[in-house]
Amino acid sequence: MNRVILIKYGELSTKKGNRNFFIKTLYENVKSKLKKYDVKISKDRARMYIEFLDSDLDEIKKIIDRIFGIHMYHIATIVDTNIDVIKTSVLEIMKNESFKTFKVETKRSDKSFEIHSQDMNRVLGGVILKNIDTSSVDVHNPDILVTVEIREKNTYIYLNSYKGSGGYPVGTQPKGMLMLSGGIDSPVAGYLAMKRGVKFDAVYFEAIPHTSLEARNKVIELCKKLAGYTDQINLHIVNFTPIQEEIYKNCREDYCITIMRRMMYRIMEKISNSHKGYAIINGESIGQVASQTLTSMRVINSVTNMPVIRPVACLDKLEIMEIARKIDTYNTSILPFEDCCTVFVPKHPVINPRIDTSIYEEEKFDYKSMIDDAVESMNTIKVSEDMDNEFSDLL
Ligand code: ATP
Ligand code: MG
Repeated sequence: MNRVILIKYGELSTKKGNRNFFIKTLYENVKSKLKKYDVKISKDRARMYIEFLDSDLDEIKKIIDRIFGIHMYHIATIVDTNIDVIKTSVLEIMKNESFKTFKVETKRSDKSFEIHSQDMNRVLGGVILKNIDTSSVDVHNPDILVTVEIREKNTYIYLNSYKGSGGYPVGTQPKGMLMLSGGIDSPVAGYLAMKRGVKFDAVYFEAIPHTSLEARNKVIELCKKLAGYTDQINLHIVNFTPIQEEIYKNCREDYCITIMRRMMYRIMEKISNSHKGYAIINGESIGQVASQTLTSMRVINSVTNMPVIRPVACLDKLEIMEIARKIDTYNTSILPFEDCCTVFVPKHPVINPRIDTSIYEEEKFDYKSMIDDAVESMNTIKVSEDMDNEFSDLL
């Protein structure tokens, strides 16, 4: 008997007008993530089906667990929609199981099939009871739930259910621009944005020689982990050193972080304009540090009209850390290499900055041309999950 992975879409089904687009995007994502396996993928309005080689099942499941837009999936035995075939197959499957109680649940989406669901439950239950001596029916808490989905051509029989990662397929929203640092918060922010269907490019601001190649490497490793949820991520590396040095040479010390972040936002907007980014995404969390009070956010945000999405804004650090562990970015994030934000921290950063003071301070140097230079000279790496990282031995 052949087996298939039977995928249920979940949240997609609430999107009436967009349904086909959502399913098609999910189909393309599944196809791309499974391209190195010998699989056959097909879809209809309610289900996606993946035929696979038994030896690949464990690896394929791990990949499917990270594809957004999948609500639930089952490893199902596929048989012809024919009453005798269904009866023999259900019995054969149940003979290999050890159980006492069971329940049969039939879903008849092929309404032309002559036997109604309830009757089918009784027919199949009867076959099991008659042939497996010790078995009995328990409709409330059975050891095994046998689900039989009767569709037009094929019928699917399964005893298991696996929870998918939910959300919307990546790519059902236009692209965002993720500010990706080496910290704990921004990879989690990227993961949560992807779960809403947002694909993104990542931008890392580095300040060599104040920051190291190890710090860059850490960001590449984090980006690789995030790429596990999509196909490939463009990582733009911006040389932030000249701007950062000018800020610290010219501006009031307590405003340095505020101004630094206003510069980052300006650069993000410029990169978004040239790379079709529709929103800035970052790992800011309300109140976490001086630059993330609501007053600070307003002053920093005022340099751009772009939407700024902060997926972890209202989460506690512990909640963010829990997600970081779940998506396996935590251990990389806590490696001790300094980031450009941590190198130049003033003793007493302003908690309630003012917009007019920020403007006054930053006009002390010609930041506009420096921003242009930073964007023009940025390097882009295409990061995929299994990419070789030439510096990974530095970690
Ligand atoms: P931590 O987990 O230690 O808080 P963090 O990455 O959140 O690290 P913050 O100083 O809190 O660091 O910065 C807030 C957000 O600003 C980050 O989540 C990230 O989105 C962005 N950011 C900070 N530094 C950089 C950087 N060097 N490159 C790109 N984005 C950055
Ligand atoms: Mg943070």
